Amino acid sequence: MTFNPSCVLVTGGAGFIGSNFVRWALSHAPDVQIVNLDLLTYAGNLESLEDVADAHGPGGDGRYYFVRADVRDFNTVAELLRGHARETPVDGSQGRPIPVPDCAVHMAAESHVDRSIMGPSVFVDTNGRGTMTLLEACRAALAGRQRSFRFIQVSTDEVYGTLGPKDPGFTEATPLAPNSPYSASKAGADLLVRSYIETFDFPAIITRCSNNYGPYQFPEKLIPLMITRALADQPLPVYGDGLNIRDWLHVEDHASAIWEVLTRGRLGQVYNIGGGAELPNIEVVRALLRVLGKPQSLIQYVTDRPGHDRRYAMNTEKLCREMVWEPQHAFQAGLAQTVKWYLDHRRWWERVLNEAYRASNALYLKGN
Ligand code: NAD
Repeated sequence: MTFNPSCVLVTGGAGFIGSNFVRWALSHAPDVQIVNLDLLTYAGNLESLEDVADAHGPGGDGRYYFVRADVRDFNTVAELLRGHARETPVDGSQGRPIPVPDCAVHMAAESHVDRSIMGPSVFVDTNGRGTMTLLEACRAALAGRQRSFRFIQVSTDEVYGTLGPKDPGFTEATPLAPNSPYSASKAGADLLVRSYIETFDFPAIITRCSNNYGPYQFPEKLIPLMITRALADQPLPVYGDGLNIRDWLHVEDHASAIWEVLTRGRLGQVYNIGGGAELPNIEVVRALLRVLGKPQSLIQYVTDRPGHDRRYAMNTEKLCREMVWEPQHAFQAGLAQTVKWYLDHRRWWERVLNEAYRASNALYLKGN
């Protein structure tokens, strides 16, 4: 049976995948409303949604709402889910009342593996406690008022651990074996969601996807980091021998897959999402340099990341069998399009780069 959402609560909607999902959903589902709840950490940026706010905010068709809040704040989230919240005021306005969400797509997270190695606790707090708080707030809102509701836990292939060169791709039945504090915190969150499904008959679905790429990705992640550094003729740091393999998924293909799962997925299930584009990191970096017309000599191998997973690969048969979905972006074309986006949006990434430096100084240099 198809679920027809009328108001989607998106947590972490000002991040990379969140902002792309919000844009995708508003343009593909003309009647849907979106409430974006985001704390605006270093990774959240409302400039990624300026076009969305213009077209769909109070001055547009009115279907987009933004609330600045912490997903770990039970009272605020519970009030919002009951329909007792207003959007965060802009320009001295009062902010409109928020419509009652009938589903939640949970993406708010700390998402960068390197940062989780530098400081794991915020990962456990945001990804673990944040997920539990949201689950509890949903349960409280539903307990007072039984209604049709769906919760999508957006997770990662990294919870499955690592693969050998010839191993078949991860299936939804692959045991969880996370190797970084980031992936452990996401696996913990997934297990909490699973326990709510089993214990409370909670209407949730878990999605696990591979590495995303595309517009509006914070330039600490591989592809935008390499593009922005290459444009400045800076060395491109590649971990270890560069032969770690990732499967690449265009963020718009991820957005459409989440929408499929939200509207057609079976409650209580897990769905893998992947791009079918397995490549060693070094090949991705070489391809970027070719597209940018920069010399391969910019590549600089650096000491490997501790606990670095060797290979991820996704078996997405279940998703493709049950939904009308397959990735629309071939990797090489998607990569060239992404490079063009970064060339055309210098203002966006130069501003967030400054922010990135400020944030990483605070994180790594403790205010020096
Ligand atoms: P991101 O780091 O770009 O964005 C995370 C967003 O969450 C930011 O807008 C941030 O402000 C917000 N946030 C953080 N803590 C919050 C809190 N306590 N309350 C409210 N908002 C908070 O992350 P992303 O790359 O867009 O990833 C989104 C989700 O997808 C994450 O759950 C991540 O684990 C998952 N995922 C990402 C990838 C990928 O390749 N980027 C792959 C698989 C899964």
